Amino acid sequence: MPLQFADRLNNVETSAIRELFKLLGKPGIISFAGGFPDSAMFDVDGIREASNAALAQDPGAALQYGATEGFGPLREQLAHFMAQKGAKDVAADQLIVTTGSQQALDLIGKTMISPGDKVIVEGPTFLATIQCFRLYGAELISAPVDGHGVKTDELEKLIAEHKPKFVYLIPTFGNPSGALLSAERRQQVLEMAVKHQTLIVEDDPYGDLYFGEAPPPSLLAMSASVPGSRELLVHCGSLSKVLSPGLRVGWMIAPAELLARATMCKQFSDAHTSTFAQATAAQYLKAGRMPATLDKVRSVYAQRAQTMGDALRRELGDAVDFVQPQGGLFVWARLTGAGGKVADGNAFAKRAIDNGVAFVPGTPFFCANPDHATFRLSFATVGEDKILDGVARLAKAL
Ligand code: PMP
Repeated sequence: MPLQFADRLNNVETSAIRELFKLLGKPGIISFAGGFPDSAMFDVDGIREASNAALAQDPGAALQYGATEGFGPLREQLAHFMAQKGAKDVAADQLIVTTGSQQALDLIGKTMISPGDKVIVEGPTFLATIQCFRLYGAELISAPVDGHGVKTDELEKLIAEHKPKFVYLIPTFGNPSGALLSAERRQQVLEMAVKHQTLIVEDDPYGDLYFGEAPPPSLLAMSASVPGSRELLVHCGSLSKVLSPGLRVGWMIAPAELLARATMCKQFSDAHTSTFAQATAAQYLKAGRMPATLDKVRSVYAQRAQTMGDALRRELGDAVDFVQPQGGLFVWARLTGAGGKVADGNAFAKRAIDNGVAFVPGTPFFCANPDHATFRLSFATVGEDKILDGVARLAKAL
């Protein structure tokens, strides 16, 4: 007898990216496809010391079941971390620890979305968010993005027209767009949240990965200066891109009522995030290692981003258009079709694989009206020589 799966699975397809990853095993391929940080960046010694300290200080707590909301000392450290980033008034009990920020997104879906509810996301946006919200039956609406993030005038029109359950944004070095939402647009987002009484979800796993000047403060940090906006804001953070995704430590800051319901759902889902991982992360932050770690990852990724940007401009010229990223892990590019060259990201991705280089075409990152000419390149996990080699292969494929 065929298995009878839940209807909700009809709303999602397996990710096109997963299919592509199957091809990456080909020998000699240079991959710009992953969304990972570079494992060579992991502060292994620091994490070893932190986990030793966690076991030495209170092994009973580090290895026991824990509170669903999170391990107390980590919640304190994360509140302090957020304060250093400008969100000064977040108390430890106003955040919960989640199993990666991915779980925060799932809990938001679970607590907020009924089948048929409208949710506005950026076009393009994080693929797993599209899949996750669709699993809960959301009708996704795509808000257009330019080199400076979501176009706020268009966003406001969509909010007024659709009255969404919430708006999901990645304002700082978004995945895949790499775009940085300007301070002016951030202010407008907060003001329109208040004006239309719309909940805004700010997903911020990349905000610490800036290459030059610090980006404008997060929506959460800015909400202090826009009366009434804080009650309409959910903020998701993560240690994945700066410290280690394998720790699976993320967090969520939200209005009290939403946080309480998300905590209830988390209880049924995984009871709590690994106490050992949380105790380790707490010790790591307490030891004051994060600033040096951030300096290191910022400078390595900055150099790689520059190398990739320069090589793309040199080798592909006017056949591609992109904004040089100021942070994050990605170059989001568009084929212009100049000189009669290929202007289809999917076709280009296939030719690229044949030429020994992989990346992700842009289409799957759109919930509607995909721009087929787009594609995403990650510079994070590839050394500079390989970036140069990989871009030369791209030029050949083109
Ligand atoms: N949000 C965005 C925009 C991401 O790119 C990712 C990871 N690729 C996540 C959330 C989830 O990250 P994690 O669960 O490791 O915190």
